[in-house]
Amino acid sequence: SLSDRLTATFKNLRGKGRLSEADVDATVREIRRALLDADVAVPVVREFASRIKERALGSEVSGALNPGQQVVKIVNEELVTILGGETRRLRLAKNPPTVIMLAGLQGAGKTTLAGKLSKWLKGQGHSPLLVACDLQRPNAVTQLQVVGKRAGVPVFAPHPGTTSEFDAPTGDPVAVAEAGVAEARQKLHDVVIVDTAGRLGVDAEMMDQARRIRDAITPDEVLFVIDAMIGQDAVNTAKAFEDGVDFTGVVLSKLDGDARGGAALSVASVTGKPVMFASTGEGVDDFELFHPDRMASRILDMGDILSLIEQAEANWDKDEAARMAKKFADQEDFTFEDFLAQMQQIRKMGSMKKMLMMMPGAQNMRQQLEQFDEREIDRVEAMVRSMTPHERLAPKIINGSRRARIARGSGVHVSEVNGLLERFGQAQKMMKKMAQGGMPGMPGMSMG
Ligand code: GDP
Ligand code: MG
Repeated sequence: SLSDRLTATFKNLRGKGRLSEADVDATVREIRRALLDADVAVPVVREFASRIKERALGSEVSGALNPGQQVVKIVNEELVTILGGETRRLRLAKNPPTVIMLAGLQGAGKTTLAGKLSKWLKGQGHSPLLVACDLQRPNAVTQLQVVGKRAGVPVFAPHPGTTSEFDAPTGDPVAVAEAGVAEARQKLHDVVIVDTAGRLGVDAEMMDQARRIRDAITPDEVLFVIDAMIGQDAVNTAKAFEDGVDFTGVVLSKLDGDARGGAALSVASVTGKPVMFASTGEGVDDFELFHPDRMASRILDMGDILSLIEQAEANWDKDEAARMAKKFADQEDFTFEDFLAQMQQIRKMGSMKKMLMMMPGAQNMRQQLEQFDEREIDRVEAMVRSMTPHERLAPKIINGSRRARIARGSGVHVSEVNGLLERFGQAQKMMKKMAQGGMPGMPGMSMG
């Protein structure tokens, strides 16, 4: 697996400085191979690899990870972002019914999905109506009716040759779609799922029909259903549907098969549309919300390496805390190197900001959290990084000309460097006081 190969490429060396071109190249080569194995489209792999290289080159080597792990971490973050970041929810219409239209090639899994989606929505307290607009294939309407029965959801459909259960027009899918939405409005269904026809290959007539249906019912969501096994064709198919009906989200079907799901990356990457659901079998319950993070590790087949990375980072936090505690105890000087290490920890809290904001009780902390400014940390970090190692360990030597050089190197004004050195001096003094057992005098507070 990729994990094994990467582990072999990188022993547990911890780097210093910045990631080198050789580090990055070796890992990116493995990543590219893994993506191609997962059947991600070739041009997508190429673009992705060069983006990773650009981002990884010159990024700081973390204290916690070896260079290979660090590149993998970047790759994983990028994958998750491309695949849609956090799972995107269905957009429900302010004035029901919410209209969802399904589009995709024949055999992609639209009709099956219609059943799954409707059952899932029903479970969430909605009252969906399925609308059969595939009038192309002889059995398509019956198939949707079977699926609807399994899901326990009514189906609006023309009955060729007989009188319709509903008064549905026959023959014209656009008219059926419109009548279906009207029916839902009248019978107070709050969601309508419109199943459409597909062809084996993309063709103009089919796309035209899909577009006319879309224009007639102005759906809140157009979901493009694509078979996870489709492989290299994913890009062309997705582009054709994007041009043709301009879908709002992607559903990846047949994820129960062997496919590693490269199609998800191909489609999301060329269209920028989020993957929202996954279909994982022929049954009406084989359906789940799509999780970009799980998909990312499936595509790269690197679940184990990611958990290693998490562990290494968690341990590093502990190591670092222990190191600082020892420094205090030994009454060593607090240096800019320590300062830098602390900033990395603070950064991690920054990325936790969003999560913290959502927690009960966060209201009290809200102001502090909102004031947390990543850019301020960037500037401070840039200044510290512009110092020589000697300056970091012995800040006393930073005289006027050194200050000017640091300011130039980090793109800030000299007054900012002065401010930093002053604050640092105060912090150093405070650390010393704390280490000696006393707290700096704070009016109104006694520290027992
Ligand atoms: P449509 O032409 O887009 O409506 O596709 P269908 O819903 O009719 O599905 C085509 C075939 O794929 C049927 O035999 C389905 O049972 C099968 N199918 C659909 N979704 C899945 C899935 O997630 N997993 C598996 N294994 N088969 C599926
Ligand atoms: Mg169908």
